[in-house]
Amino acid sequence: MSNDTMVNDTMVNDTAVRSTRESTASAESVLELDGVSKRFGDETVIEDLSLAVEEGEILTLLGPSGCGKTTTLRLVAGLERPDEGEIRLDGDVVSGNGSFRSPERRGVGVVFQEFALFPHLTAGENVAFGLKEWDDADREKRVSELLDLVDLSAQRDSYPDELSGGQQQRVALARSLAPEPEVLLLDEPFSNLDVDLRVRMREEVRRILKAAGVTAVSVTHDQEEAMSMSDRVAVVNAGRIEQIGRPERVFQHPESRFVAGFLGHASFLGGTVGRDAVSTAVGDIPRERIHGLAPEYEGSAIELLVRPDDLEATPDPDGDGVVSSRRYLGPTALYEIELDSGEAVSCMHNHDVHLDRGERVALSLAAAHDLSWFPEGAETVVDR
Ligand code: ATP
Repeated sequence: MSNDTMVNDTMVNDTAVRSTRESTASAESVLELDGVSKRFGDETVIEDLSLAVEEGEILTLLGPSGCGKTTTLRLVAGLERPDEGEIRLDGDVVSGNGSFRSPERRGVGVVFQEFALFPHLTAGENVAFGLKEWDDADREKRVSELLDLVDLSAQRDSYPDELSGGQQQRVALARSLAPEPEVLLLDEPFSNLDVDLRVRMREEVRRILKAAGVTAVSVTHDQEEAMSMSDRVAVVNAGRIEQIGRPERVFQHPESRFVAGFLGHASFLGGTVGRDAVSTAVGDIPRERIHGLAPEYEGSAIELLVRPDDLEATPDPDGDGVVSSRRYLGPTALYEIELDSGEAVSCMHNHDVHLDRGERVALSLAAAHDLSWFPEGAETVVDR
């Protein structure tokens, strides 16, 4: 059972406890980072970062450029040394506490964004590259097994320049998996692929990693990629983990405004908590639609997180506001609505709905799930 499923989703005040529990080692942890900090000169790039990755899990570090994702991978790989804290693989300290195990003795594989295949070696020879110490029969068996896993048996004798981008990516993956690493690290593995291929490769790479049963840590700044291929996502901001959990949980119940905004479009709708409902500029929302709103909040000012697909706008001369912009996105259109209260919210509609700029609209709640909220002005739910 993952840590995430062990916590009671309906409890609000356990937020701080939950964050700690989700990053704490369990018996099955293959990789643990414990209070790790890293500085370059005066700049603290990673600060007191703790994380535990379970066997067979795919965990993605997601965050904006420069937040320290690649540095974290490099620390795990042994390409950097932490200034503080400890890194453990299978329970053994590999960095910290006076010890340091060299990268080649860590059993950690890395897939970089540039694939870096050897151009003068065939797909099969690239996969065999890290197996020089193996005897011929075992090496042959392992290469065949991996080419089969990545569905490239027929391309075994092809050179990298005879392969498509997606095929090259799969050879790189097979090459990294070949020596049976304890942990596989993937550094923005899809950034060199075009958009369509990137989407297909996410599914494919997830399938391959799961079939190989490998424990993987990937990094990206692409939230869709993180959410579609990971068992858990850790949202990193300025060298710290802001939240870690199942993608659905982190998306629907962000614990900070940073996480809410980084994982998708987020608008905040002010409201006052009444006995049965929260009154807002778009009407009353029943309290049972609000996530974990305890009775003692009655009378408090809160802000509800509303994403574009949570709201529906319909033309209404007596409505709540006016359409201030429309962004056509193909299958859908994103509307900005300026409410009479002065607040602005976004809503998403199918492309066949057309609302004009300046048109008055009424907003209603389309979301079937409960809504997250923050105390007015608070940056995190932990401030509650
Ligand atoms: P991106 O998504 O752009 O790759 P990132 O989240 O992976 O970003 P890092 O590459 O880990 O970020 O860099 C974090 C910070 O550390 C940046 O400010 C970067 O300039 C700095 N940094 C990284 N490596 C070094 C180094 N060897 N020497 C000095 N500063 C470094």
